[in-house]
Amino acid sequence: MTGHAEKSREYEGFEQGPIRPPSEAESLLIRVTRNCPWNKCTFCPVYKTARFSIRPVEHVKRDIDAVHAHVTRLTAMAEQTGGVTREDLRGLYEEGPSSDRQALAAAIDWVFVGKMRSVFLQDANSLVVKPAALVEILTHLRERFPAIERITSYARSQTVARISDDDLRAIGEAGLNRIHIGMESGSDEVLKRVRKGVTKAEHVEAGQKVKRVGIELSEYVMPGLGGRALSRVHALESADALNRIDADFIRLRTLAIPGSVPLFEEYDRGEFDKCTDLEVAEETLAFIEALDGVTSAVRSDHILNLFGDLEGVLPGDKDRMIGLLRRFIEMTPERRMLYQVGRRCGIFERMDDLGDAARAGEADRVCRQFGITPANVDAVTDQLMRRFI
Ligand code: SF4
Repeated sequence: MTGHAEKSREYEGFEQGPIRPPSEAESLLIRVTRNCPWNKCTFCPVYKTARFSIRPVEHVKRDIDAVHAHVTRLTAMAEQTGGVTREDLRGLYEEGPSSDRQALAAAIDWVFVGKMRSVFLQDANSLVVKPAALVEILTHLRERFPAIERITSYARSQTVARISDDDLRAIGEAGLNRIHIGMESGSDEVLKRVRKGVTKAEHVEAGQKVKRVGIELSEYVMPGLGGRALSRVHALESADALNRIDADFIRLRTLAIPGSVPLFEEYDRGEFDKCTDLEVAEETLAFIEALDGVTSAVRSDHILNLFGDLEGVLPGDKDRMIGLLRRFIEMTPERRMLYQVGRRCGIFERMDDLGDAARAGEADRVCRQFGITPANVDAVTDQLMRRFI
């Protein structure tokens, strides 16, 4: 993969890529690679037309230095004046070169919103960079910003599985504290079908390796990815893989199928039978029930998820999470519809919001206005979910 490095390219200024995990909303984004070196997953809308490349280490370091210069100036201004005003920031934008504005904007967000606590290395798989190069970037980042609490990155299991323990440990010691892996599924059948390019065994090997070398591990699972046909095997095999890994975090991100992804064509031709919300809840129940012997924190921090409050730390919170899913499954179809619509429209954040008369009335009004019924609710909420991708 390192053969993709574009060493001859001139530095074109500070860069940021299109995505980050939801949990990295306040992190400084430092772009180490561009796009995804795999780019074949049929459910994934990101990067599909973009070519992958590795940025030269010197370019990444120049990005870090550009942010550092702005951060130094911003913190000095704040100390001298007791607080930076909007006018001050406007002045900074206007006096600097336009080519530097992205770095300035990133620095402002990071200083005033993120409080300079964390950094996320972009894009889809920074671990594809040679270990020595990644160590150099991490070391530079830590030198420039010694107070950073956390540096994280996405990585593919297939890439991590090929890195030696020693190299991965060196990357951790240089400052990478957490790796986010898109497991999506632990089922080989599902992984093959969606062209994830990785097996359950590689997921397990990579996850265990990350834990073994002392880096925090966050694994993403995608409820609904197996469709109706593979729903159960998807739930049970994913739980089994995660039981072997004991990740620090298990993060849920429910499948949505925008028109731009290859999976949409299968769906459109009737070859992928998408689960309803009720079926996804039943699948998630089977998944949570099968998680066993692990101490992972379950997180539902993606807007696509029907249950924003399906969170907790295993094993202590397992029964509560199971109870929440059962509550939804056992509702009348009308009440379930109300919750589905309210959640997808942003009226409800959690299931208890159904008990709020004003919010429930608002969801009911939406159902009546748009003719939503238990029979068509999943078709309507599918459309709503596409807005969030
Ligand atoms: S590896 Fe990640 S970014 Fe790349 S295609 Fe698959 S889901 Fe998308």
